[in-house]
Amino acid sequence: MFDSLSDRLSGVFDRLRGRGALTEDDVRAAMREVRIALLEADVALPVVRRFIDAVTEQAIGQQVLRSVTPGQQVVKIVHDALVEMLGGGTSDLDLAATPPVVIMMVGLQGSGKTTSTAKIGKLLKEKQGKKVLMASLDVNRPAAQEQLAVLGGQVGVATLPIVPGQQPVEIANRAIQAAKLQAIDVLLLDTAGRLHVDQALMDEMKAVAAVSSPRETLLVVDSLTGQDAVNVAQSFAGEVPLTGVVLTRMDGDARGGAALSMRAVTGKPIKFAATGEKLDAIEAFHPERVASRILG
Ligand code: GDP
Repeated sequence: MFDSLSDRLSGVFDRLRGRGALTEDDVRAAMREVRIALLEADVALPVVRRFIDAVTEQAIGQQVLRSVTPGQQVVKIVHDALVEMLGGGTSDLDLAATPPVVIMMVGLQGSGKTTSTAKIGKLLKEKQGKKVLMASLDVNRPAAQEQLAVLGGQVGVATLPIVPGQQPVEIANRAIQAAKLQAIDVLLLDTAGRLHVDQALMDEMKAVAAVSSPRETLLVVDSLTGQDAVNVAQSFAGEVPLTGVVLTRMDGDARGGAALSMRAVTGKPIKFAATGEKLDAIEAFHPERVASRILG
């Protein structure tokens, strides 16, 4: 995760830390390198600009330059700004509603939506002791419902029995009824994936939201797609009230552009980072830890 960005930045900051005194020019030169590193990591340009401006302004302050360890102070300023850029604190799932609390999962096909649904189901069951039911509303892709049933079996989370021929809204209604009857705490609805942001499927997603009143609507996006992931999030956010993002394939993401731009561009918090194909490869997204990892 973030390896190439981390390598670039550690080079810049090692040089800064190695110096006893720093001039304004030293700081500006370092920030030029940070700027390039962020752009190479595929962070959105306006986000990079804002970041560099804010950090430079603080770092060339006299308290920093005249301090005993100016290099370290600059690194601390960058660290804090990175945490801010990544969303500040951790954003937990909001499950404070009358059960069954509905979490609607949305996203493009192949983003890792169904896998992430099962991973979150497993987390909620094992870490929070929740009684969870999962239902696939994907009637477009053959075997999508079976896929969730198989994953449910692997993680020990119940899935709604499949009734062939039902439409997404009917399935959602049936899932809610089943969840109420079985005193389920959390109902995860895995909606149909999209090849691209397509109006018919957006309408379907809105119809499902209308009958299920999700407490959380989580968009699953592939971090490897970089800025596209951020653009996809913008498009979905324009259609449904997203409450958060699940970033997948963080295990292969050396650049980190999606993670670094998501919050600043879309205003939506990253709630989970998925880090592999295994069903326990998911974790809450901690901006502080990610920033520390990036800065080494
Ligand atoms: P969906 O079409 O969005 O429902 O995508 P799937 O959940 O079926 O996932 C597509 C593929 O991506 C599967 O082979 C998953 O095992 C894989 N996958 C999902 N999440 C991750 C992840 O975080 N890291 C890696 N490396 N693979 C993942």
